[in-house]
Amino acid sequence: MIEENYRAVEERVRAAAVRAGRDPEEVTLIAVSKTKPLSDIEALIRIGVREFGENKPQELRDKYENVSQPVHFHQIGHLQTNKVKYIIDKAVLIHSVDSMHLAEQIQKEAEKRGITAEVLIEVNAAEEETKFGVTVEETANLVREISTLPNIRIRGLMTIAPFVDDPEENRPVFRQMKQLLLDIKSQKIDNVDMNVLSMGMTNDFEVAIEEGATMVRVGTAIFGERDYSIV
Ligand SMILES: *Cc1c(COP(=O)(O)O)cnc(C)c1O
Repeated sequence: MIEENYRAVEERVRAAAVRAGRDPEEVTLIAVSKTKPLSDIEALIRIGVREFGENKPQELRDKYENVSQPVHFHQIGHLQTNKVKYIIDKAVLIHSVDSMHLAEQIQKEAEKRGITAEVLIEVNAAEEETKFGVTVEETANLVREISTLPNIRIRGLMTIAPFVDDPEENRPVFRQMKQLLLDIKSQKIDNVDMNVLSMGMTNDFEVAIEEGATMVRVGTAIFGERDYSIV
């Protein structure tokens, strides 16, 4: 079931890329396995899936330590400074860096282990009060500030778009994110790549891809609804 769901989402990713005149290989599908058991992850590993997304640092760590073979785990959820230590050498990419304070903690933990942490800057593009993330206006400054930290490499931007009934409503948000990525990229800041744009979830990933997403984070469409009462 999960396998078929994954294949169906993968096909929709491909179709959206083709529709937009893009190479489907440019888009990485991250299977968001938060709250789901290891057995669900193993089912996807058996069909060759290697990219998984987790929200909670301890959950990422536990799954990382217990999977049958090495796969990539992305830290996609909000990260508190005191939890950086759980995922610093386990997350392939931290999608949710939104302050210098958090970046400094990542720097400290990465330096301790002699590694470079790959991160995205989380942008609250729709400026929703309930969301984490830096504002569009502040993003370039934060990128410049964090770029001075030697054990961090900024790879691009991430956003969580508003929850809407019609995904078309989020098209302007995604388009603005792509423009912001290009604007910052054109500034050619040392130690900064700006090649990754992580945006699009179950409800709106196709529109996100049409607008330039290079990573989509899809949970529900692959694993089914999450039951938060059991975790
Ligand atoms: C849960 C989550 C997702 C996946 O959401 P779905 O709507 O289930 O696809 C993507 N990104 C983040 C940051 C999440 O927390």
